[in-house]
Amino acid sequence: MRLSKFFLPILKESPREAEIVSHRLMTRAGMIKQQSAGIYSWLPLGKIALDKICDIVREEQNRAGAVEILMPTIQSAELWRESGRYDDYGKEMLRIEDRMEREMLFGPTNEEMVTDIFRSYVKSYKDLPLNLYHIQWKFRDERRPRFGVMRGREFLMKDAYSFDLDYEASKAAYNRMFVSYLRTFDRCGLKSIPMRADTGPIGGNLSHEFIILAETGESEVFCHRDFERFDVPPADVDYQDDAVMASIVEKWTTPFAATDEIMEKEEWAQDAWKALGDDTKVSARGIEVGHIFHFGTKYSEPMGAAVQGPDGKQHFVSMGSYGIGPSRLLAAIIEASHDEAGIIWPESVAPFQVGLINMKPGDAACDAACEKIETALSNAGIDFLHDDRDERAGVKFATADLIGLPWQVIAGPRAVAEGNVEIKNRKTGERETLTIEAAINRFA
Ligand code: ATP
Ligand code: MG
Ligand code: MG
Ligand code: MG
Repeated sequence: MRLSKFFLPILKESPREAEIVSHRLMTRAGMIKQQSAGIYSWLPLGKIALDKICDIVREEQNRAGAVEILMPTIQSAELWRESGRYDDYGKEMLRIEDRMEREMLFGPTNEEMVTDIFRSYVKSYKDLPLNLYHIQWKFRDERRPRFGVMRGREFLMKDAYSFDLDYEASKAAYNRMFVSYLRTFDRCGLKSIPMRADTGPIGGNLSHEFIILAETGESEVFCHRDFERFDVPPADVDYQDDAVMASIVEKWTTPFAATDEIMEKEEWAQDAWKALGDDTKVSARGIEVGHIFHFGTKYSEPMGAAVQGPDGKQHFVSMGSYGIGPSRLLAAIIEASHDEAGIIWPESVAPFQVGLINMKPGDAACDAACEKIETALSNAGIDFLHDDRDERAGVKFATADLIGLPWQVIAGPRAVAEGNVEIKNRKTGERETLTIEAAINRFA
């Protein structure tokens, strides 16, 4: 991609209302534009990064056996009356009336709708286990939308829903999602800690929030230091083996970890925290990037989602739901990875791998070197952003640092005259002079 043909509206100033660094940087780097409180347009750089995150989320959901669907954003109030949640959900739900005066709503979550899909088609235990997910925009009329896309009103969510014959099987489904979440956040360059959590309006009794430690996190969290040295399960971990899944979950849930909500309500948590030695305690702030729930028959029973079991009898299916907010996750990645100059993308989610900087457009040698590199990167399928604008080199360096691509390839007249370019690693700041061929070989 050439920057002169791209749309990258860089801002010099941060918006006044931006309280946290990810909001400031996302706005300055031309990734998002606020349209109204908590509602954002995604500009090209933001959209590409968001898609990369969704690709990782999707791959890890599929790997764990979940199947992708796409449900609508608009739902009927009728469905929510079946579960009893239409009245319970309160002001966070955006309620809409259509021209026929039918009550509709903009979905804040999809338990009812997916249960309706399930009951329409699945009648036998032989079709289980089943886990259906989608990645779709949600609307929650948050009391205090803030921190940019971190707490938006319209935000993207991956929500998965598992259906099983009994508690035992649904616990196994829960474990698979637990493992898949560890891998998902790890691939996004983040260390996530699963914490015992409150279930809120989703209901149920088994629940973990996946928390990223960050100073700007909205929750106060308490956990054991052991999490710092835990390794995440590898890509070839056997999702079919329930015992393997259970042992991973066991390992990751044994050291103490809880959010402030749990600490306030549960005496066991306060006691466990007090019992920890000072040198093993981590009390910090955290960002909730994912949340998994097991809630059994909370929806299947009132909505009549039952299958025939091996015993010939009807059984209400045991369910769980599993959410990740890719839009919040993107902001969390920036909270965890930036410096004074801008964003530092982990390679896995970087909108482009390479920023190619032509320091002197119009200089025949610089132009030729950049074109050669551009062709080679294109042919090798490497995503790059070529800053071919007619701007001062200083402006280009500042842009490159701000948008945080992992690698910069800098073509200046002096180096190019000797057949060289400079390579800069955005994270470490290390620079290296290489021949143009060697630079190409480094990436392509
Ligand atoms: P929070 O405690 O931050 O309000 P929640 O517990 O209400 O979040 P869940 O219902 O558990 O959220 O939704 C699953 C995931 O969706 C969350 O873990 C988070 O990643 C994302 N999410 C929820 N609310 C928002 C929001 N307002 N903006 C962006 N992402 C959100
Ligand atoms: Mg909430
Ligand atoms: Mg929460
Ligand atoms: Mg939650």
